[in-house]
Amino acid sequence: MLTGAEYRASLADGRRVYADGRQVADVAGHADFVVPIAAAAGGYDRFWKPGDAVNEYLKPPESADALRAHGAMRADQLTHGTFTCLMTLLTAGDRIADVRPQGQAAARKFVAEALRRDIRMVETITDAKGDRALPPAKQSDPDAYLRVVARQADGVIIRGAKLHVSLAAMAHELMVIPTKAMKKDEADYAIACAVPANAPGVKIVSVGAPPHGDLRDSPIGAVRYNPQCFIIFEDVFVPWDRVFLDGETEHAASFAHALGLWLRAGSLAQAANEADAIVGMAQLVAEANGLEKVAHIREKITDMALHATMVRAAYEASMANGQVQPNGAVLPNELYANAGKYLAAAEHGLMLRHLLDIAGGSALTAPSHADFENPETGDLLRKYMATKPEVDGLYRTKLFHAVRDMTVSSYAGYHAIGQLLGGGGLNAQRVVMRGRYDFDRAKQFARDASGLGSNT
Ligand SMILES: Cc1cc2nc3c(=O)[nH]c(=O)nc-3n(C[C@H](O)[C@H](O)[C@H](O)COP(=O)(O)OP(=O)(O)OC[C@H]3O[C@@H](n4cnc5c(N)ncnc54)[C@H](O)[C@@H]3O)c2cc1C
Repeated sequence: MLTGAEYRASLADGRRVYADGRQVADVAGHADFVVPIAAAAGGYDRFWKPGDAVNEYLKPPESADALRAHGAMRADQLTHGTFTCLMTLLTAGDRIADVRPQGQAAARKFVAEALRRDIRMVETITDAKGDRALPPAKQSDPDAYLRVVARQADGVIIRGAKLHVSLAAMAHELMVIPTKAMKKDEADYAIACAVPANAPGVKIVSVGAPPHGDLRDSPIGAVRYNPQCFIIFEDVFVPWDRVFLDGETEHAASFAHALGLWLRAGSLAQAANEADAIVGMAQLVAEANGLEKVAHIREKITDMALHATMVRAAYEASMANGQVQPNGAVLPNELYANAGKYLAAAEHGLMLRHLLDIAGGSALTAPSHADFENPETGDLLRKYMATKPEVDGLYRTKLFHAVRDMTVSSYAGYHAIGQLLGGGGLNAQRVVMRGRYDFDRAKQFARDASGLGSNT
């Protein structure tokens, strides 16, 4: 396994990363990447074990209990994303085995190697997509969706772009998969493979605004900020043993579906924790303001707690109803994972509205740590930010910093759109949820209630 320092050193591998209009010479040292690289390096150090050990977080969970225990473990975003990729490859590998057994074998071999090398990988799926009303084969620019432009004895050459890819600049491998189902005449677009971030022809343009200034004032963004990456593949060679799917259009969506499931199950675990954290913040702020017994504030916090409970219940149900796959790993239940993710994303805005309403204006205007350290203003700020003897002014200010970072900071904006669109927009969850919902059972309940008897 790698240590955090070895991980940082591993990023100097010749990769072509761009930020703010310039090529980045030293990825590990670039200001835009300080937060996510520190988080990822911390993850390496946290899980590090000597000898031939394998990262505990990345091992496929092989029972429902192991899956739940995995969900309870905390990891940085890059390690968590790597887990999602590896599980996706195993799950989709099994699903394509009937038409492409060598793809299943390649996926299993890649996962074993990834665990041995202790690499980090990112989900590289969303294409540029051109005109949304047209399929890949009918686009004016055939590269609007990533495709195979040549096949050789030793592998394929791919061209295209993948957008909004979180943390690609600081990962080792890109899990490239089709963004959607493909038709028979779109075989060149049905490509799934693993590409090293430093492969010749790969350019990674990093986009985003990291928290700036004193990171103590951005307690959430300072730990969780992720730059998004626009990845260009300019005729990139991929050897056959890294190609999982090539042309089997009937399985083009198998990878996206498997990814969607792991992504939504994983983000549901995070959403459940986050919903509880938002409830907790609302309660702490109400107490610090002296308003926790006021009726309308209690009502709002009750609504928030109800929401958080339902998100967690969906998460628990997705774990409890998981299924063991042929590769031995347990798959969370798709119906509950998608319904819960939808609920968490759709109501996130209401949770933030309640939190802001309860907190008051200091959620935006609380002074900074530096203001508190200034001898001319510090004591006075502490005095006026205090509300009662047991509520210290700096303590209350720190709470407001957290509320700001959860609701209205640039990190909060980034996070809100990530909640909504990451892993597919609201509609994607609705479509999968509807497909897995047991309408026959629902209709039978309705027939019974209506005295119509059985359908058969
Ligand atoms: C913060 C963040 C992190 C992300 N991380 C990743 C990542 O790590 N890896 C990755 O691959 N992707 C990632 N994504 C991309 C995410 O999955 C996409 O944003 C999402 O799938 C929507 O695609 P789009 O942004 O291209 O929007 P569009 O496809 O343009 O969609 C916009 C809206 O139009 C609707 N729409 C689009 N086409 C059609 C159509 N033909 N018919 C009907 N409705 C349509 C959509 O449902 C949506 O409501 C991330 C996105 C964000 C914002």
